[in-house]
Amino acid sequence: MEKQQYIDRAEQAFYKVYNRFPVVFDHGEGVCLYDTDGQEYLDFGAGIAVMGLGYGCQELKETLKGQVDKLFHVSNLFYNVPSIEAGEKLLKASGMEKVFFTNSGAEAIEGLLKIAKRHAFDKGMAPDYEIIAMRHSFHGRTLGALSVTGNDHYQEPFAPLIPGIRFAMFNDLDSVKAVWSEKTCAVIMETIQGEGGIYPATEEFLKGVQSLCDEHDALLLLDEIQCGMGRSGHMFAWQGYGVKPDGMSVAKALGNGVPIGAFLASGKAASAIVPGDHGTTYGGNPFVCAAASKVLDVFEEKKIVEHVRETGDYLWTRLDEFVEKYDCVQAHRGIGLIQGLEFTKPVAPVVANALLEQKLVLISAGSNVIRFVPPLVIEKTDVDEMVRRLKAAIEAV
Ligand SMILES: *Cc1c(COP(=O)(O)O)cnc(C)c1O
Repeated sequence: MEKQQYIDRAEQAFYKVYNRFPVVFDHGEGVCLYDTDGQEYLDFGAGIAVMGLGYGCQELKETLKGQVDKLFHVSNLFYNVPSIEAGEKLLKASGMEKVFFTNSGAEAIEGLLKIAKRHAFDKGMAPDYEIIAMRHSFHGRTLGALSVTGNDHYQEPFAPLIPGIRFAMFNDLDSVKAVWSEKTCAVIMETIQGEGGIYPATEEFLKGVQSLCDEHDALLLLDEIQCGMGRSGHMFAWQGYGVKPDGMSVAKALGNGVPIGAFLASGKAASAIVPGDHGTTYGGNPFVCAAASKVLDVFEEKKIVEHVRETGDYLWTRLDEFVEKYDCVQAHRGIGLIQGLEFTKPVAPVVANALLEQKLVLISAGSNVIRFVPPLVIEKTDVDEMVRRLKAAIEAV
């Protein structure tokens, strides 16, 4: 079928919530995607930081095929082996004590918010307790996650959202202190703001917030959905800061494309949830957990985190050239394989030209930032090729 026919059918059928690019992807291999016309694209978006191991990871495919023949799903009223294995591996990698598997990132955030609420309830706090979140954050589209997403444009049509959320400025400890009160029961934030434009937390800020939380028996909840799973050059980005959250969320790269997320907790947060407090039908089923379990194995076998440090440093050097070379590029931020270039004007034309003319998949973060979240298995030669194509795209527009 013609590409345009697919596009017309999609526009007819789906709610119009996305402005999609006119490309219909068909299959992937390594760090490349192929469209229905057979054209090859170099992928530096990885399905929004999902395809950490790239496309067509042989071990993962074999595991999933084996699990398909065995068992897709059983209820959480029973035990299943892949979920136990995936859960233990995730706890080991994070140093957390308890894990709950979800179907998405937003649901993992919902879990963290329930932990915060349960913690406040257990402490006997009045129901008007408060949670501090950050401006320019992104935590997902469900109503709870949206409530802590500091973006008026996303929130406004759905107000009123859950009450008691106070917003502070990311990387501004004084702004956190300014909204702190005896009602504060938790702080939630991304360790590296992704959607908001690739802003890593400063060490001073993260440690400062942790001290505030410790002092007031509030929970530090870190969203590692985008920056976790090796992307920062640490398995979880907070591990590079010398802090430890009470609760954390993970999703995106956890299943390498198989939809799975999780929330994890340690210390007092690990005992906050009791029987009857939470549940899910699909979450943690054997199919998705077989994926996560194998992904975690492959991370160890292929030393993915070490590889990210090396290629991340190389990407850093190559992207720095853009700040030097182009007046329209004004800043470069990030770490490992989560980096961003901030432009002086909206990046949409560059992103579209890169995709359609240069066959390079890039995604933006906000209007003026191009974000680089490639598969974690990219090589330096892929970085060079990306740089070549991006320069051509910038020069063309
Ligand atoms: C993508 C993302 C989410 C939401 O995950 P979904 O799977 O889309 O619900 C939450 N937090 C961060 C930091 C994200 O990048």
